[in-house]
Amino acid sequence: ATRTPAAEAVPAAFRTEFTGETYVPGDPGYDEARTVFNSMIDRRPAVIARCASAADVARALRLAREQDLEVAVRGGGHSVAGMALSEGGLVIDLSRMRSVEVDPDARSARVGGGAVMSDLDRATQPYALATTGGRVSTTGVGGFTLGGGSGWLERAFGLACDNLLAADVVTADGRTVRASADENPELFWALHGGGGNFGVVTSLTLRLHDLPVMSIALLLLRPENGPEAVRTYRDVLESAPDAAGGASIYITGPPEEWVPEALVGRLVCGVLMTYAGPVAELRDVAAPLLALEREADVITEIPYADLQCMLDDPPGMRNYWSAEYLDGLPDEAVSAYCAGAATMPVPSATQHVLFPMGGAVARGSADYPLPWRSSPWAVHPFGVWEDEADDDRVREWVRRVRAAVMPWASGAVYLNFIGREGQERVVSGFGEDAYERLSRVKADYDPDNVFHLNHNVKPSVA
Ligand code: FAD
Repeated sequence: ATRTPAAEAVPAAFRTEFTGETYVPGDPGYDEARTVFNSMIDRRPAVIARCASAADVARALRLAREQDLEVAVRGGGHSVAGMALSEGGLVIDLSRMRSVEVDPDARSARVGGGAVMSDLDRATQPYALATTGGRVSTTGVGGFTLGGGSGWLERAFGLACDNLLAADVVTADGRTVRASADENPELFWALHGGGGNFGVVTSLTLRLHDLPVMSIALLLLRPENGPEAVRTYRDVLESAPDAAGGASIYITGPPEEWVPEALVGRLVCGVLMTYAGPVAELRDVAAPLLALEREADVITEIPYADLQCMLDDPPGMRNYWSAEYLDGLPDEAVSAYCAGAATMPVPSATQHVLFPMGGAVARGSADYPLPWRSSPWAVHPFGVWEDEADDDRVREWVRRVRAAVMPWASGAVYLNFIGREGQERVVSGFGEDAYERLSRVKADYDPDNVFHLNHNVKPSVA
């Protein structure tokens, strides 16, 4: 499509009816509005339409059609591939639509399509209610949930999308439709993992759960003690109650008060148990872990919303991540995972993560396009660095550690944990049969593939 000059991209008639803000190149605030979490992404949209309502979303979609502008949808802007921005196109920016209404009696929350995790967690915390959220506070609830949604509470309460009760969606042709078990059920099914393919979700209704107390045990160990700690963690988690979750995370020792000087700036093996219950119960479940020799620990009860900020990554960094979901975690797989840490770029904000799954994740509906949910473990190398000169080194490291665990990989991958890795990976993220079904839903709701800046489902051809 030919590019529309910026000044003509937002006609006066649009400006009078649109109730949000628009940004075109040169406007104050434009550069801020085109900044996403991954600082490697540098795209210049022709128009950023920061919508104030579902009606604004429909207006912006009409403008994109009239001006032949490629559409991107921005929730929290955390897609590692920068899918929230279109070069020379139109961004439907939902960052003003962040309201959260908690209904404590119904145990549900209605969440704006542009809300971030902390908006939701801070709103539910006063009621001692929570639902599965991402592991940092700045991720968009929309992109996170629609892609599946994996977090500390998943073994207890399921994936975020398992808790999706309803959604309001503006479709490519500007209609507003409701998706729930009773209304547009195929669309509702597709929103359980199918991502932003089917329309702009302007609000999500999520089921909440009682969470009166949350606990954690975070142990820091010397890397040479990592393999034993990870094997112990595996053994504990494989028989732990669903309340237990967490991760093993190799990181650069952070400059924090509780971290011994000798570990700061060096590779450390972190073992984290999260527990949806009191710390005394956590201590019982984690007993074999708490017997390990370690350099530092934090064992405490913590408000869930605070836990959610504990691992917040600094913004403005370069990012490249990938993931593999494993069928099992024998000792050899633990060794392969731990060996990957030896070559991790340190010091940096990079993390080499191993997540336990199982529990309510594994028991959730096998009908949804989430074939990876049955995997008991996931390896997630998460490259985060500052200097452009390190780009090749970190990307190479991510690819290498992913390759090292391939012998145990199921082949199905959670798409929110990867960037652009080709259409074959997209299909394996949904499963072949589910992909076909998603393609049919896509043909019904977005036959022209307006929403294609995502892990894209192509509309089926009748
Ligand atoms: P955006 O880049 O704004 O959007 C991503 C995609 O979702 C785009 O295709 C966009 O069009 C679509 N989208 C977003 N909102 C809507 C909407 N309202 N309607 C329709 N489409 C929409 N994931 C996990 O599961 N668990 C984690 O613990 C976790 N931790 C993370 C930590 C960090 C630091 C980062 C950067 C990401 C993490 N993620 C995690 C991945 C995250 O879930 C995905 O990147 C997700 O896509 C982010 O959603 P977003 O709305 O912030 O991103």
